[in-house]
Amino acid sequence: MSSSTCTKCGGSPFYARRYSGEVLCQACFRASIVEKTRRTIAKYGMLRRGDKVGVAVSGGKDSLSLLEVLSSLSEVKGYELVALTVDEGVDGYREESIEHADWLAKKLGVTHVVVSYKELYGFDLDAALDWKDERDVSSCSMCGIFRRRAIDEAAQRAGVVVIATAHNLDDYVQTFMMNLMHGDVDRLGWLDPLIVDTDFPLRRIKPFMEIYEEEVALYAHLSGLPFQSNNCPYMHEGLRSEVRDYLNELEAKHPGMKNVLLNSSVQVSSKLSASGGPEPIPCSVCGKPSTRGICNVCRMKRLVEQHTKYTPD
Ligand code: SF4
Ligand code: ZN
Repeated sequence: MSSSTCTKCGGSPFYARRYSGEVLCQACFRASIVEKTRRTIAKYGMLRRGDKVGVAVSGGKDSLSLLEVLSSLSEVKGYELVALTVDEGVDGYREESIEHADWLAKKLGVTHVVVSYKELYGFDLDAALDWKDERDVSSCSMCGIFRRRAIDEAAQRAGVVVIATAHNLDDYVQTFMMNLMHGDVDRLGWLDPLIVDTDFPLRRIKPFMEIYEEEVALYAHLSGLPFQSNNCPYMHEGLRSEVRDYLNELEAKHPGMKNVLLNSSVQVSSKLSASGGPEPIPCSVCGKPSTRGICNVCRMKRLVEQHTKYTPD
């Protein structure tokens, strides 16, 4: 925080944006987040007039903020919103965030579609992870495979043409670096800011991708959005939290470094995406596009089912 006044309106200072030299009061800070989102959407042509947009809302601070910001822009931009939530089935954790998502959707007058793992796959995450311990896969990687498909399902039910997720700048750069560290070059292309799904014509957009994580958290706080009181018990960040700490250290020493890394990551992703990845082939079980004969969702599902058959209740 700084002792000078807001560089926009002269009001009392609240936030010093070190990389730009701006000092902002609370109202100007909130307005700056909405404006940054608007500019990101325009820069990448993320939304078009008349679009029906599904916002993936987990109920955490980032996704609630995204729903609120997109709602405030929707009239000017002329698109319609639907909130999409996935209930993974984590006893004692998910209920609260779903309530938060539902509360905000109602407050903003947005339809809320909830799909659950149980309904889609026949088991919830608690049951699936009971099996997982024996396997060489992290909880979040496995959960992420199921969640992506579940969001697609919710999107189809809601009839949306765009899925907006609340990935912020830190998430984007962390994911880019983690893909590099895992040697997963194909996935770098998936980070292209505007991915059109080959399965059904669905755009995937990240309107917060140019906003620092700490700024999204401050926006949520200033907007009085509810905070989840506990974390998912299966959360296992491993390498990601080391990358996060490293990026924060770099940013503290060199303000703006995260912005530079974002720009470089976007350029690399867009070039890789334009050069095309491996040609998808239909999964032999569910028919969705996959890079091998059977898609990740069906592979994981089969493993969970095989295990649960041998597990006495
Ligand atoms: Fe799934 Fe990981 Fe999120 Fe828990 S923290 S809901 S395991 S992705
Ligand atoms: Zn499949």
